[in-house]
Amino acid sequence: MEVHGAHVQTFDVRRTFGGLVAVDGLTLDIPPGSFFSLLGPSGCGKSTTLRMVAGFEPLDSGRILLDGTDISGLSARKRPTAMVFQNYALFPHMTVGRNVGYGLSVRRVAKSEIRKRVQDALERVDMVEYQDSPVTSLSGGQQQRVALARAVAVEPKVILFDEPLSNLDVALRHQTRRELKALQHRIGLTSIYVTHDQEEAMALSDRIAVMRAGRIVEWGKPEDLYREPQSAFVASFLGGANVLTDARSIKDLVGIDRPGPDKALVVRAEDLVPSPDGVPVRVESRQFLGFVTELVVRSGEELLRALIPGAYNPSSDDMRLSVRHFRFVDNDF
Ligand code: ATP
Repeated sequence: MEVHGAHVQTFDVRRTFGGLVAVDGLTLDIPPGSFFSLLGPSGCGKSTTLRMVAGFEPLDSGRILLDGTDISGLSARKRPTAMVFQNYALFPHMTVGRNVGYGLSVRRVAKSEIRKRVQDALERVDMVEYQDSPVTSLSGGQQQRVALARAVAVEPKVILFDEPLSNLDVALRHQTRRELKALQHRIGLTSIYVTHDQEEAMALSDRIAVMRAGRIVEWGKPEDLYREPQSAFVASFLGGANVLTDARSIKDLVGIDRPGPDKALVVRAEDLVPSPDGVPVRVESRQFLGFVTELVVRSGEELLRALIPGAYNPSSDDMRLSVRHFRFVDNDF
């Protein structure tokens, strides 16, 4: 099966529901074949954006282009896109094979061709032997793979994922995440992935756009967004950094004044390290998490989170931590 990912662009896309602005002038450029995540808290407009790309939701204004062609007016069925839903949206009364072939029969593809493509798609997700099984007999992870095979079977140029792993337990979610990444790598489809799980977005994506209240706050490579966030919102959303906005607390912790009243200090939890030369803090709680120990400490008015490698048990609740790395960002809280 030859598949090529499309170049997806949105220009100033807007969608309101009554008085509520769900998506507020969104402009995105998603390179062909890339894995692009929309990450943000509940209600920030991620799903609405995805549904507009799929053609399930009309735009109030703006344009969506696929390989340079405006598809904003096309019905969902005419778009070269396929969606994988959170609840898989499989038909319970159909076999695995019929579920995977459904989109093709709707498109009136010849039966022999459907058989071939279903086989092909199931091979990709390693589920061929389940072709004749009822979908209701499958585990959550297997149903997720069938949903993926169904999306791939219509040979889309863009695959749209709406929180597809959120119904799986942690171990299965991690495994399925690895499989998804490998599959994406093999078939090279453009993928747009909606999630509120920052770890999932970082693990899977070439690029992440962080959304807040219908807008993109920042976008870029996961490691750049993590290491060099520009805003307090992104710093705290991605990896739960310590963000300080009070001038006095900032000076107490890092010994220098913030560069301006509109700036916040960001210190990653892993950049607070026990050190005899550090600032005095008081341990409020300690949790051993396996490969790290999480401390919540008080420094003046501030509660800070520190992650110390391995099993760390301070000899006293009064200890010192030094700041290995920090940065100032825009305070958009
Ligand atoms: P979640 O992760 O909770 O799904 P999200 O970031 O995907 O959130 P959207 O589902 O896109 O957010 O919703 C954005 C806003 O638009 C929310 O306030 C939501 O209540 C509202 N909204 C979405 N769809 C509709 C609709 N059909 N009618 C009215 N309001 C809607």
